[in-house]
Amino acid sequence: MRTTLILAAGGRSSRFRKSLEDKKSREIPKLSLRSLPSKIFLSLNGKPLLEHSLDVFRPFRNIREIFVAVPPGEETRMQGRIREFKKCPVKIVRGGRTRAESVWNALRKSDPNNEWVMVHDAARPLVSRGSIQKLFQSRKGADGVILAAPVVSTVKEIGAQEFVTRTVDRQMLVEAQTPQLVRRQLLMKAYRENPRALSETDESALLESVGGRVKVVIQEEWNPKVTTVKDLELAEAYLRQGKGMIVRTGFGRDTHRLVPGRKFWIGGIGIPFEKGPFGHSDGDTLLHAISDGILGVLAQGDIGDWFSDKDPNLKDIRSTKLLRKILANASKQGWSLCHVDTVIILERPKLGILKLRIKKKLSRLLNLPPDCVSIKAKTAEGLGPEGQGDAITCEALVTMRKEER
Ligand code: MG
Repeated sequence: MRTTLILAAGGRSSRFRKSLEDKKSREIPKLSLRSLPSKIFLSLNGKPLLEHSLDVFRPFRNIREIFVAVPPGEETRMQGRIREFKKCPVKIVRGGRTRAESVWNALRKSDPNNEWVMVHDAARPLVSRGSIQKLFQSRKGADGVILAAPVVSTVKEIGAQEFVTRTVDRQMLVEAQTPQLVRRQLLMKAYRENPRALSETDESALLESVGGRVKVVIQEEWNPKVTTVKDLELAEAYLRQGKGMIVRTGFGRDTHRLVPGRKFWIGGIGIPFEKGPFGHSDGDTLLHAISDGILGVLAQGDIGDWFSDKDPNLKDIRSTKLLRKILANASKQGWSLCHVDTVIILERPKLGILKLRIKKKLSRLLNLPPDCVSIKAKTAEGLGPEGQGDAITCEALVTMRKEER
């Protein structure tokens, strides 16, 4: 049974962003909430949420193609980010205004030879292989099979002014989750014939609207939708299952000369200035300090041991690439970032508002929420090479953790 998998990740993570904002960080309200990284790239137990949601489907050989629907305008960036996983070929499609529209965009591009379509919310990273298997096994005689949870609370129907009008029999209710496995042809038909298709909130509703028979598989394990920062923290605790953590800090420090004719790279962004850091790479001093901090946690030398300044292939290389390699190596050894605290010592240019852009960029590069990335900028009061505007120095204190074995 050939199947197309569609991961719905087209949402703007607005509730998640709101929950970040509620943490009352002084800086986050200043960041445009739209520009914060999508929650699906935030780290959950050492790897991005989206990667959990992709990994769980990997053993299923009948899944022949995978689509990820991403927020409109983020296709290129997401393509780059997803390529970093380098594990499975994933096709990116533009998300729509609604979840149903996102799925429709993917569905239209999917291979018509795949008889079944499985849709999953990328924000449900904890779904188990067993549940997915059960969905596939239960499809016989049905047009669709969905994962659902029993309703445990007493359910009320409310009317005007929030007065209860009646108590609903919860025995007859389940809460629909994902994945949802549906027949491709019938789903296509629903999109074409149901005039309200694009506002239906799940695939089951679409099938129901054209008379499809949808079966329910009761979910026994925890399959939360990560909607707020709290959910992310809970999911992390669940994955850790009470295992202890080793926490280490690493320190990194780097200085580069500032010379004319070089682009000024700092924290992965290029800023306009008459000089730039001299170096074999792009000279991104902040990323070098952070990279050295990470290597400090691992006790595995420094960035110069890893990337020689004699290597012609590394001439003018972007330090974001070097940092990614160092991060990938740390993650292979089980380490994940918790927090990065940095100091930039620079007389000119004044960083001011750029600090927020750097923070945003680092948060993306490091898969950390912005409230775990600290950027501090200092001048050297006119003293020394930094004070004279001849050099930039950066320091980074990096905190990482690893599961105890
Ligand atoms: Mg350096």
